[in-house]
Amino acid sequence: MSDAKIRLTTDLSGQVALVTGAARGLGRAIAENLARCGAKVACVDVNAELLDQTVAAIGAAGGTAMAWTCDVTDSARVSAVVDEVVKTWGGLDILVNNAGITKDTLILRMKDDQWDAVININLRGTFLFTRAAARPLMKSSRGRIINIASVAGIMGNPGQSNYSASKAGVIGLTRTVAKELAGRNITVNAVAPGFIATDMTAVLSDEVKEAIKKQVPLGRMGDPQDIADAVLFLASPAAGFITGHVLTVDGGLTA
Ligand code: NAD
Repeated sequence: MSDAKIRLTTDLSGQVALVTGAARGLGRAIAENLARCGAKVACVDVNAELLDQTVAAIGAAGGTAMAWTCDVTDSARVSAVVDEVVKTWGGLDILVNNAGITKDTLILRMKDDQWDAVININLRGTFLFTRAAARPLMKSSRGRIINIASVAGIMGNPGQSNYSASKAGVIGLTRTVAKELAGRNITVNAVAPGFIATDMTAVLSDEVKEAIKKQVPLGRMGDPQDIADAVLFLASPAAGFITGHVLTVDGGLTA
């Protein structure tokens, strides 16, 4: 177990962050962590009900957050959300592209719609928010884009050709946009989680989970907090000279 009492901290007061997929899991932990450090957080998700719970939890902890219901594949809505966030809080400093799904099956059985859904949400959604946020981020003196990739995008994973391709795409996008926006002092990095205990992985059988733990040198699945702290570090001034990097947070799985 990680020691939940030891928490990374930084001062993000005066900064505005936008986190996609913030209704639950890693996105919620990331949004709460950024808010804990003083950022105003725009929480974006398709799940309005759970999104309200994230916003309420941040408010109850003394932070500032608002909910924007949005499908990350809807280009017009994505642009409108970014505009509304900028109008509401006067700018945008940190974008976290976290929304993602899996639709696992072996390549021989992969249906067109399973392929398209995963590529659209994981990769196109990241592209749409990155493009929409680029101009406001240029106006920030310290813009940050942090994309949530996956170890599957680095090492591949049987049954996840769609997912691995989407996450490898996110890594390519991260490295390219890092080079394009570096002149504007915007850093663009990816966090590649290994197996983290969320609803996404709760569907795995106990047998599969045990097999996963055996492959992980640190011998456990990660906590959402492990990812939230990696994102917080990349969002912080301490990471100002890091760009185009893929930070694996996987207990040594890809070591
Ligand atoms: P999760 O399923 O618990 O949460 C994903 C969130 O994204 C949900 O709130 C969902 O409503 C939202 N979402 C889905 N489609 C959307 C859409 N079209 N528009 C807006 N929001 C949408 O998953 P998680 O485990 O928290 O994963 C978060 C991210 O981390 C994903 O990108 C995932 O691929 C990545 N990741 C997770 C793990 C893991 O082990 N949990 C490992 C590697 C990478």
